[in-house]
Amino acid sequence: MKPSLILINPWITDFAAYDLWSKPVGLLYLAAHLRKRGCSVHLIDCLDVHHPLMKEKGPLPLPKRRSYGTGKFWREKVSKPPPLKDIPRPYSRYGLWPKIVEQELAEIDSPSAILVTSLMTYWYPGVQEVIRLAKKIHPGVPVILGGIYARLCSEHAAIHSGADTVISDHGFDSLWTCLKAINIDLAEDADPALPSPYPAFDLLKGLDYVCIMTSTGCPFRCKYCASHYLYLEFCRRDPAEALEEIIYWRRAFGVRDFAFYDDALLANPETHALPLLEGLARLDLDLRFHTPNALHVRGITPEIARLMRRTGFKTIRLGLESSDMALHRELDNKISPGDFEHAMRHLKKAGFSPRHIGAYILIGLPEQPIDAIVETIRFAGGHGAFPYLAEYSPVPHTLLWEKAVSWSNYDLTGEPLFHNNTLLPCWDEARKGCLPKLKRLVAETRERLRQE
Ligand code: SF4
Repeated sequence: MKPSLILINPWITDFAAYDLWSKPVGLLYLAAHLRKRGCSVHLIDCLDVHHPLMKEKGPLPLPKRRSYGTGKFWREKVSKPPPLKDIPRPYSRYGLWPKIVEQELAEIDSPSAILVTSLMTYWYPGVQEVIRLAKKIHPGVPVILGGIYARLCSEHAAIHSGADTVISDHGFDSLWTCLKAINIDLAEDADPALPSPYPAFDLLKGLDYVCIMTSTGCPFRCKYCASHYLYLEFCRRDPAEALEEIIYWRRAFGVRDFAFYDDALLANPETHALPLLEGLARLDLDLRFHTPNALHVRGITPEIARLMRRTGFKTIRLGLESSDMALHRELDNKISPGDFEHAMRHLKKAGFSPRHIGAYILIGLPEQPIDAIVETIRFAGGHGAFPYLAEYSPVPHTLLWEKAVSWSNYDLTGEPLFHNNTLLPCWDEARKGCLPKLKRLVAETRERLRQE
């Protein structure tokens, strides 16, 4: 008999969450591999905004959806975990009503194992809760936890998640070994040399958009980012193969919106982004592209900007982080003087307006001067990009981690809940007090750009 596996994308538990093209792509890749290897796969997506039973039976108000497949999640206020009890903000569980997850779990007879993914380290309460529920409905069935929290905080996850096994290495090999150890036999991979199957987006209800990964990892080593830890090397797919995938989702499922999940889509564009965009431009598929993960400003050449416009890029996010070049030299070396100005000039010349272009501005870094942030907001707006504040979350295994730990008043090493960027965990109270002023300046800058 085929092994029957339940795959779960858990709830988010946080002070705020928004569906900005959020899909569990790693879990969907895993689902596709497991199907290819002869398993029967049941996906439970706790963040499903289209679940029919939520509309019929759920007690929660319908989440407002916005353009291009983005919008709010289902949301229910819940008690704060004790370490966050003094934070004066409501805390919520985002996603399906637990009774519906329970019902979905109960509908699957005798699963061989339950595989749970995880994302942000400080969302682990949602992971714990779903594992508790899975074990209640299917006692004795092995539960295996993987994903980003499992990798970054493997010891914490082993002690606190409730999973029987925590997979903390990169790739699927450890999982295959683990499944074998519990007597789940996978069919031989027909030909491991063939390209990976596409992630199983077809298992989701209501496919508003597809997230595309044309590469994994990043050639940069920004001190605040864990990309190099999560992906051991920078690997890129053949652009022709990525193009085939986009065509597949468009033709087979009618998908128009695509969010690039690459960390470095524009690295060495001549051999990657350029042929991909040229291929898209030739096909004229009436698509819309979005780059929530930020593009490298150095990669925006006149040709790339022209092709982005031609192929339907609608949401462009640039990784500006700061206009302070000394900060870049210290932390990431990904921008040099003049790079951002050039990128903006090329984008505007290609026909993009400020409403398409956002610049991420990093705030909450240890020792970061407020004046430099004010200057960066003005700099982004002055060049025609909407400023977006991106609050720093301290991440274990990054080069900045030790400094973050020494600067924070929170116990970052002992409690992942304190990695939450809403807390601005590496800022003192005086800096945190400047946040409303920074948000006001962002709002004014955006308003001015809207009217230009
Ligand atoms: S460029 Fe982006 S993805 Fe790459 S290391 Fe820096 S922050 Fe991470």
